[in-house]
Amino acid sequence: MNYPCNLIKDLLPLYADDACSKESKEIVEQHLSECPDCQNYYDKLSNEDTLSLTPDNPEHERQKAESFRTVRKKLKIRQILIAIISIAVLIAVILSTLVILGKYENTVTYEDNISVNMVDGSLVGRLSGARHHSMRAKRVDITANGEETSYLFFYFRTTKLDELITRKDTYTECVLCYADKGADTIDYVFYYTGDNTGIESMSYDELQNIIEDSVLLWSK
Ligand SMILES: [Zn+2]
Repeated sequence: MNYPCNLIKDLLPLYADDACSKESKEIVEQHLSECPDCQNYYDKLSNEDTLSLTPDNPEHERQKAESFRTVRKKLKIRQILIAIISIAVLIAVILSTLVILGKYENTVTYEDNISVNMVDGSLVGRLSGARHHSMRAKRVDITANGEETSYLFFYFRTTKLDELITRKDTYTECVLCYADKGADTIDYVFYYTGDNTGIESMSYDELQNIIEDSVLLWSK
């Protein structure tokens, strides 16, 4: 049953008078066939009608007008409720989509849009044309032939949400190594998007393979 009984009961006087639309008539008939309570009410109403109310009776006209008003009011409330629920569902869908889009990070591949600069003694990475969501950096100090070299490998991460709200002239910056954390002791900064697990304890030769797959963005 799609319509509440009280709405059907308000429609019944109009239905009895054959004064409602074809659509309302179908709704009432459908409801009556499924609802004994309303069917009883309708039977009673039909009896009263034939006894006391003729179509020309002013009381009958008044009841009919009253009935029209009540039905219109109830339908209006119903429409408003449906609109409110639809808007709430829409907002919920939009919010959850944003949460999902903001949740899954992708690694940004290098496309000439990433640079590194020394700014006030700190090493700063810049991503142009996009917003980054996070940055991962690893420092590797390695001694070969009695000489220590310090490398910094980093990559940016972005989310679908960042991509959505990005414009061509957008850029974001991020400190890769602060001055007081020894930025001045770093010799090379590489952009490396591969797996960097265990990179800190690699041998010099192993590290050369990583460097081959990296882009050199800054050197002392
Ligand atoms: Zn009913």
